[in-house]
Amino acid sequence: MGQYNPIELANNIYNKVCRTIGNIELRRYFRFRGGRWYGGIATADVIGCNLMCRFCWSWRFRNNFRLGYFCGPDEVFDNLVRIARKHRYRYVRLSGAEPTISRNHLLKLLKMFNDTDLVFILETNGILIGYDDSYAKDLARFSNLVVRVSFKGTSPDEFGLLTGAGPEYFEFQFRALENLINAGLKSGKDLYAAAMIGFSDDNSVANFVRKLSMLDPNLIDVDWEYVILYPHVEELLNKHGLKPLRSVRPNEIPRSMV
Ligand code: SF4
Repeated sequence: MGQYNPIELANNIYNKVCRTIGNIELRRYFRFRGGRWYGGIATADVIGCNLMCRFCWSWRFRNNFRLGYFCGPDEVFDNLVRIARKHRYRYVRLSGAEPTISRNHLLKLLKMFNDTDLVFILETNGILIGYDDSYAKDLARFSNLVVRVSFKGTSPDEFGLLTGAGPEYFEFQFRALENLINAGLKSGKDLYAAAMIGFSDDNSVANFVRKLSMLDPNLIDVDWEYVILYPHVEELLNKHGLKPLRSVRPNEIPRSMV
């Protein structure tokens, strides 16, 4: 398969994982769960991503459209609040695949959480926010939202190698940060960058940090991601002939990553 365009892929995936009834946009979900990340977070795993990362921990369900079931924003909100209250979590998130594909659904959900004391962490690859600055403006309306833009590698070539997408789309992740800052989000407060550096050499990481600092000096506090060698992730890496330079075993995950 040649390189793909993640904007076009997002449209294709949208048709498979979203459905509109009246003015309600439903999204396909895999499961709801609690989790230890961020010191405890209620998590809903969505199905459908516009990237196909070759280190992806969720690759078995990520684009499996036979799994899961459709939920409206109300049902997702109720499930996440129930889990958060039960475990006394402060945070909620959508994970597993790409939440921004279902824009209307996501914005409705954010609106509901805006009236609570829970903080919504939007984990995103950023491509769609980089593509369309009106998306960043829509997100900037919510005060209890934190956006975490997760870079796939630290350079266009790494991005292409790790995702199989055209390397030029790496830039859209920077544009996502730029659009969000221009829309009013404050880096280091309600916006930050994460980056998969499992395949990056030190030079590439240094260049990446330099580029972030030129965008905004507060962005250099990056949430670094290493490859977690779950057996099914090793299987995927082997399939693509990839050997990480930085990885951790599931039982060695440092506290800083959790
Ligand atoms: S963006 Fe995230 S969910 Fe999508 S393929 Fe990459 S790692 Fe998996």
